[in-house]
Amino acid sequence: MNEQVNGIVIKQIDYKDNDAIITVYTPTYDRIGLYVRGYKKITSKNVYATQLIDESMFLFDYNPISRFQTLKSASLINEHKGIKSDYDRLAIAALICEIADTVYDEQGYDDLKSALDQLDKCSEPYTVANLYLSLALRAAGLGMNVDGCSICGATDNIVALSQQEGGFVCKNCNSQLHLPVSDAGYLRKMRIINKADFTVFDKILGLGLNSFDITRELAGFLKYYMDIDFRSFRSLLDINR
Ligand SMILES: [Zn+2]
Repeated sequence: MNEQVNGIVIKQIDYKDNDAIITVYTPTYDRIGLYVRGYKKITSKNVYATQLIDESMFLFDYNPISRFQTLKSASLINEHKGIKSDYDRLAIAALICEIADTVYDEQGYDDLKSALDQLDKCSEPYTVANLYLSLALRAAGLGMNVDGCSICGATDNIVALSQQEGGFVCKNCNSQLHLPVSDAGYLRKMRIINKADFTVFDKILGLGLNSFDITRELAGFLKYYMDIDFRSFRSLLDINR
């Protein structure tokens, strides 16, 4: 049965000499694997619509019992040119795709599309990375607790952030834990990023959230709880050394 869906390429694996299997995130099927014949031939008419982070319309033969669907054709909607021409943005996009592939089980399309569309054009690439990481944590049921102390519930004298406790820790509880104390401005930024979503993205620009320190913290939470070593995060670490 012929099926046509809009989706975003989040992974590609070479297969045999000229073929590839791409993973596409779609609104209807979540993740699907598409077999692309002749992927590496420059003459292939599909090659321009099946690169990582391409948003395209995919036509394939749908077989519900098969692991992969055979791609018939793909036509490009948005190649995200602004991302592809900037090294930081490309590294962030790679992390976003890896998270879309490994963390989101379902309903990840809207967050993914918003993240890549904003990353393509906005002036704060790390704010996009940070918001996407925070949304992925929430989607996995691991949202950082930024409403009060994760141990006693107190809402004042918040002084630290703990991976093990899942979020904020107050001064009183930290007298036992001895976690490094974070400054109030940093904790306030953590609260903002963990409360926001892409519908209010314009409102969180200019608040100091365009920071790799926040990216490192959020990625650390994700790694701690999901035990996934994000390969693409290493390139971001190299860039920000
Ligand atoms: Zn406490």
